[in-house]
Amino acid sequence: MLNMKVVSFVNMKGGVGKTTLAVNIADFLTHRHSKKVLLVDVDPQFNATQCMINGDDYVKYIKNGGTTIKDVFNYKNPYKTTRGFDLIPSLLDLFRFEMAPDQGTENKLKNYLNYVRKTGKYDICIIDCPPTPSVWMTSALIASDFYLIPSKPDPISMTGLDLLEGIIKERKENYGCSCRCAGLVLTIAETNTIVYKKAVDYFSGAANWKDYLYKTPVPKRVDIARGQLAGTFILDLDKTDLNLNFSSITQEFLRRVEGE
Ligand code: ADP
Ligand code: MG
Repeated sequence: MLNMKVVSFVNMKGGVGKTTLAVNIADFLTHRHSKKVLLVDVDPQFNATQCMINGDDYVKYIKNGGTTIKDVFNYKNPYKTTRGFDLIPSLLDLFRFEMAPDQGTENKLKNYLNYVRKTGKYDICIIDCPPTPSVWMTSALIASDFYLIPSKPDPISMTGLDLLEGIIKERKENYGCSCRCAGLVLTIAETNTIVYKKAVDYFSGAANWKDYLYKTPVPKRVDIARGQLAGTFILDLDKTDLNLNFSSITQEFLRRVEGE
């Protein structure tokens, strides 16, 4: 596992389903593909952390000096979630702990994950990014082999993608990072609408996107949102179609990042 693949889930928009996709892909990789997964939450809104640890346990964990994203400076063991994968939790007050943006600090997460890679403990590391192009998003991109873009299939969300590509290109040039696109997943999709069909037509026809569009979207389902803070995952839902969708997305994800 010395070739642990690091994948950032990025989009400049919030509310596009990044976190939902990140935690559920981590879950499917663990349970359906026997992969050893580390999920890293670098979003100050810490939703991935909330999905994985209940409030009381989180407070206890922090009180006992548990590892968080602040600890990218010295290796400590990640949090063991009840879902069989590990987590580097975020912090609500991460904003106050904003790292000074210079190349030294922005490489800290990369150095940390290089250390983690050498432990041989994980096959895949997923980084759930904040929607702001902050020092944390930059740190995540520098540390990544790939980035995956979750996007809602509507015109406003779609215009943001070119901006995102611009930011990634700029980070690649300025920091010499070489992360590659691991695809574009359409999320919160209302698949029977014209807006959705137009989005699919657009992406499958656009030269810069057509090779990246996942063949299966994440459909919009209230069941996904409902149990999120109570620790409910798509694998637990008795919804065959959602399970099939996520199986397909996870397989395509693996093909793209591991060539499987
Ligand atoms: P982001 O990380 O991009 O901000 P989230 O994953 O937190 O997005 O999702 C934003 C909101 O949409 C959350 O309330 C979440 O529960 C809900 N949501 C995410 N995916 C779906 C889906 N496929 N169907 C319905 N609601 C969803
Ligand atoms: Mg999020």
